[in-house]
Formats: sequence, C-alpha cells, structure tokens
Amino acid sequence: MSDKKKFYITTPIYYPSDNFHIGHCYTTIIADAIARYKRLEGYDTFFLTGTDEHGQKIQKKAEDKGISPKEYVDVIVENAKDLWKSLGISYDKFIRTTDNEHVLAVQKIFKKLYDQGDIYKGEYKGLYCTPCESFWTESQLDENGNCPDCHREVHEVSEEAYFFKLSKYQKRLEEFLESNPDFIQPISRKNEMLNNFIKPGLEDLCVSRTSFDWGIPVTFDDKHVVYVWIDALSNYISALGYLSEDESLFKKYWPADLHIVGKEIVRFHTIIWPIMLMALDLPLPKQVFGHGWLIINGGKISKSLGNYKDPREYISLYGVDAVRYFVLREVPFGNDGNFSEEALINRTNADLANVLGNLVNRTIGMINKYFDGIVIDKKINEDIDTELINFVLSLKDKIEDNMNNLEISVALDSIFEVYRRCNKYIDETMPWILAKDESKKDRLATVLYNLIESIRIATVYLQAFLPDTAKKIFTQINTDKIDYDSASTFGLYSGGTKVNTPEVLFKRIEKE
Ligand SMILES: [Zn+2]
Repeated sequence: MSDKKKFYITTPIYYPSDNFHIGHCYTTIIADAIARYKRLEGYDTFFLTGTDEHGQKIQKKAEDKGISPKEYVDVIVENAKDLWKSLGISYDKFIRTTDNEHVLAVQKIFKKLYDQGDIYKGEYKGLYCTPCESFWTESQLDENGNCPDCHREVHEVSEEAYFFKLSKYQKRLEEFLESNPDFIQPISRKNEMLNNFIKPGLEDLCVSRTSFDWGIPVTFDDKHVVYVWIDALSNYISALGYLSEDESLFKKYWPADLHIVGKEIVRFHTIIWPIMLMALDLPLPKQVFGHGWLIINGGKISKSLGNYKDPREYISLYGVDAVRYFVLREVPFGNDGNFSEEALINRTNADLANVLGNLVNRTIGMINKYFDGIVIDKKINEDIDTELINFVLSLKDKIEDNMNNLEISVALDSIFEVYRRCNKYIDETMPWILAKDESKKDRLATVLYNLIESIRIATVYLQAFLPDTAKKIFTQINTDKIDYDSASTFGLYSGGTKVNTPEVLFKRIEKE
C-alpha cells in the first residue's frame, strides 16, 4: 500500500457525434495540466476522460451513413485518442459508455435505484416530431413552434418512461450545498444552481426512453433504454470498477477530488449527480469546476468560412506547447476566452518566443561564449541577486495558491513572470559589459549561474503545463534536478556542469 495522497480528476465524457474541436481540447488540457501538477506534487493521481456514445443523435448520424452507431463512434473515438496523443494528454483511462463494464454497471445502478423505490414508472409527455422520431421541449422549437431539425409540425404525445425521484433528495442537496460552499466553482455558479434550479423545486427526472434504442437496455423492461444522465454520469464510478468484480480502483480513488465540466453542464453535475450518489449511499465528489468556454473567432466559426482548422493543424504549424500555452493562458478562471489563429500567433511570439525562448537561448549562448559552456557559481553576490532569488523562490507559494484555487492561467503566468524577471536581470547586470573586464570574470560567472538556476526552478513548475518544452529546456541546461521539492531551494544546479547546444524553442511566427 502506498501512503501517497490520492487525487482523482475527470473531464466530462464528450459526445462523439462529430470530430472534436478546440473547445474539447481546452477542457482536456486544463484537466491534463492539473493532473500533471498533482503528480509533480507527489499525489497518486488518476485522470479519467472518455466519450458518451449513446443517444438518438448518434443513432441518426449512423443511419444516414448506413452504418451501425457503434461503427460510427468507433471512428470518432480513434480520432479523439489520436488528438489527445498529439496534445500530450496524460489520461490514465479513457472510458467509453459502450464499454461492457460500463454497460453492466449502469444496468446494476438503474436496477438498484428501481428496487429501492427511487426510480418509478410513469408517463413522459413531450412535443414529438414523427418524421424525426424526436421529442423536443418548448424552448428547443424553432421560431414558428416547429421541429428545430426538419421544421415540420410537432404534436404532444406521451410515452411510458421511468423517473428518478430528485424531489425526494431536494432538502438534502440544499443542505449539502449550503454547508460545502467550495463544492461548486466558481462560487457564483453555486448561487445560480440554488436560486434558479433547486429552491424553486426539483421535478423528477425522466431517465428512460422507448422512442429509440441506441442506449443501455433496462434489464427488467427491455423496451426501455437508459436515458442520458444515469448512463453518462455513472462513468465516473464505472470507470473505477464500481459494482464490478474488482472494485479496488473504486475503493482507492472515489470520491473524485475534481470534476471539470463546461459551464453548460454544471447543473447536471451539481444536482443530478450528487442526488444519484446520495441514493446509492456513496460519498460525494469534493469539487465541481464549471469553466467558461473557449469561443472560436468570436463565435463566428464556420467550416465554409475556412476560419477554423482541426486542432492538429495548429499543432503541426506552431507546436503542441503553443496550443497548450494558448488555451491555458487565455481563459481566465470561470470566464470565457476567445480563440483565433491570430491570437494564438500573438501569444506564441510574445511569450514563448520573445520571453522564454529568448531567455534560454541568450543564457546558454553567453555561457558558451564566455565559459566554454561550463556553469560555475563563484558566489560574487550583489543585492540585485538576492532580489532575483527571493522572487524566484516566491514562485512556489504563488503556484500552490493559484492551482488550489483553479486559477490555472494565473499560475502559468506567474512562471512567465520569473522568466520575464530573468530577462530584466540580464538587462540590469549587462553580462556583455562584465565580459570586457577580466577582473569581473567571477561576477559574470555568478550572474550566469543565477540565470540558469532561475530557469531550472521555474521550469520545474512549467512541466505541468508545457511538458515538451520543459523537457527540452532541462536537456539544454543539462540538469536532472527536476522534481517538485528541488524547486524550493536555490543553488541545487551542480557547479561545473557543461550545458548542451542551445536550440530554438519557439520560432517567431511571421504573419501572412
Ligand atoms: Zn422533425
């Protein structure tokens, strides 16, 4: 048994009706950076992502193509896994809701809730479009009150369906949310949930359908399939083997420490999911983070306008860490950010090429030029060094605070503040002037040592965000002091080390 503390983090499971875009990348990269950071800190981390594959929309798309829904999603899932690989997403498990272990878990959960009286049979009334075989709600209809897909008339029909007794748990949920103010992040979303959705009264939730069959069959009533939420939300526990023969992962990692979700599904994760867990008598997750959206080109995204590429095209044009940096840096906590290729290029040039790339390149270049590549601390210290060192060592607290508060973009920026501070230190100490004076040789060596050591420390943290770049920097400065604790001490870089050939980390991108 390891005595390491555990950390269980999840992304939503995405709906594979089409290939994934930069918005999916955003959510997954945030989760990846947090997972990498927790591993770096020493947590036994489990990072889950996956796909939510059932439902009518996928069934129809598959029918249009003349293939089975499973064949349809298989292609998209392969594509998604390839995308995650090219983005360096370090998930521990990719769950698909068509996985057999998930299907069995959902069937057992549904049966258990039914047997204990939390799921009951009733009648679902809705607006139905016969040609589309689809139910719609009032708010989904087009401007003429017709089917939003085919724009034909809808009519009210009812079908037999199973319902989940959310109402029974309303008081308990309210009490839970009031006494756990950190459960929903940002906190403004908590008030929205309580005031707009919970306090006005929870209606029981329709959890089965008979109008389509691409779903998990209800074991005791096989004309019904389990409808979206019980199927999808259960992934967070089925992925750990809940109700399977081997529950060891479940026992180890549940409850989740952090569910990362888009703001549009906060409601399901903070109302339906906690109630499901209460009904199953399981502990609730510790936190749900509803992040903002990465809006593409101000919302004016269109394939025909040609203003949006597959995320892999950006990776091959600008590098994986340019894409990771952009999305992690651009979207402030809980708010929306805007994605455009131009903004990506600007960020890459300003921060990655000018600040970071330039710093590493200049520093190694000077060590090669003045000391044949050997880094030695001659300890000829001045006040300005103490100032730099204190600034570098203050990074740890900033990173920890910001990561604990899920202020990912601020945490990342605090690393770049150190790189910027180093560039300023070069301007202040002017190594090229020191180099002209033989009596200042030891002072020059000290300045260059301080730069290398500052770069090393900041880059220890950078590993969580830009793993490829951090690895390249460690190779170039030739150090293996890269663990989390090593960033708390200034001076661990071994004197007498020879640096490697500098290579350009980020090329400046010329705009067309
Ligand atoms: Zn229709």
